Amino acid sequence: MPLVVAKFGGTSVANFSAMQNCAKIVVNNPDIRVVVVSAASGVTNRLVELTQPRVTDEDRSRIRSEITQIHHEILSHIDAPALVIETLENNHQRIEFLSEALVLDRSKIIIDELLSLGEQCSSLLFTEVMKLHTQQATLFDVRNVMVTDSQFGKANPDIEAIAEQVTTLMAPKINECVFVTQGFIGRDLDGRTTTLGRGGSDFSAALLAEALDSHSLEIWTDVAGIYTTDPRLVETARPISEISFDEAAEMATFGAKVLHPATILPAVRQDIQVFVGSSKAPEAGGTWIRKNAESRPLYRAVAMRREQTLLNLFSLNMLHAQGFLAEIFAILAKHKISVDLITTSEVNVSLTLDKLGSDSDEKELLSSALMDDLAKNCTVEVEKDLALIAVIGNDIPNQSGVMHSVFEALTDFNVRMTSQGASKHNLCILVDRKDADQVVQVLHQQLFDNVA
Ligand code: ADP
Ligand code: ASP
Ligand code: MG
Repeated sequence: MPLVVAKFGGTSVANFSAMQNCAKIVVNNPDIRVVVVSAASGVTNRLVELTQPRVTDEDRSRIRSEITQIHHEILSHIDAPALVIETLENNHQRIEFLSEALVLDRSKIIIDELLSLGEQCSSLLFTEVMKLHTQQATLFDVRNVMVTDSQFGKANPDIEAIAEQVTTLMAPKINECVFVTQGFIGRDLDGRTTTLGRGGSDFSAALLAEALDSHSLEIWTDVAGIYTTDPRLVETARPISEISFDEAAEMATFGAKVLHPATILPAVRQDIQVFVGSSKAPEAGGTWIRKNAESRPLYRAVAMRREQTLLNLFSLNMLHAQGFLAEIFAILAKHKISVDLITTSEVNVSLTLDKLGSDSDEKELLSSALMDDLAKNCTVEVEKDLALIAVIGNDIPNQSGVMHSVFEALTDFNVRMTSQGASKHNLCILVDRKDADQVVQVLHQQLFDNVA
């Protein structure tokens, strides 16, 4: 039987009526045997707010009651068994308890435990909504299979251990159960709850699809597929019917929020086709992501990542020296900072860093320990409030006229840095945050709207 894993994002499980749309998608396709859900829309953001150092008692009680309200709206439509109501209340009490515990000890272990409760609540409620349609719906605690390391806030999955657990605990029951489980969360080898980083439910679903050797993975969200750019930003953005793994991975990496950047990796490893569609309008179709897409256009999409930081490093020691960059990268690796773009000159190196690579609890990217370590080697200048915009396509370095087309559209904007050539699939520019939306709009117009 061709097995399908389906993932529903936050807006898809935001309330009872949205959950009903998802349940219908699942029961209409008997091949869907595993359903991965995010926390209901707004819940994880509120849980993150609870972890912030300056949150007051008043904020805490307001946030907790907002979260409770979201869940109670869903509960009010279901004749839920006492055990489900009790479990939900226990989860709400745990939110209260853990957020208070953070006042004394802002531990990453407690933060992940707290953040995991959004998905724990939504999966509990969604299972009940599914039971209105099929008795096969079975709540499954993903932590029993989602084995990770102990990097709280952005834990790394252990692919082999996950495959082993999935084979033992899920595969034998896959024909008689429709498993409803949590995205975003996992468990380390000491039994502690971990999270995979913001937006990580897509990644969870892909990992489960990989472990189950699925036929396909469906990502159900609030847009009818992957578009030529964020349809919320550009009205003329067009849906893409089919796209290659390479292009989709580039889009996700460069900020197309519709997919978490790590989602494509497990799909590539097992050659699992991925569908992206809207849970509100499944009939509208969507995007298929496949190893080989039939069309390979020069320009595929424009993606944007906000909140970019530029580090300008200056050192005279760099002049005719060896190993300077190695030292800098060793420091960045020690502080678990990943670098995106890099340009160098005789005595300067500029690097861009991305907030997306940071932890679930949104801690500051540049810690004072990192800055101290860097300052031992060079003079450091930090520029914030930048945005990275990527033109995604095929064979970009080997086509003439690309630079001309792109920069012709950008005459009114200051381009802080560019990068092109390393990948066949992108051309990146760094601009001021205040210009970012407009730059995406003019680029989209230049590369997509003016084309017949
Ligand atoms: P979910 O909660 O379902 O995971 P997300 O909010 O994470 O949903 O992702 C969906 C959003 O991604 C859309 O609402 C859209 O604004 C944004 N997005 C950004 N770039 C693109 C793109 N190229 N195509 C489609 N959506 C995009
Ligand atoms: N609930 C988590 C978040 O908001 C994971 C996800 O939705 O993918 O980041
Ligand atoms: Mg998402």
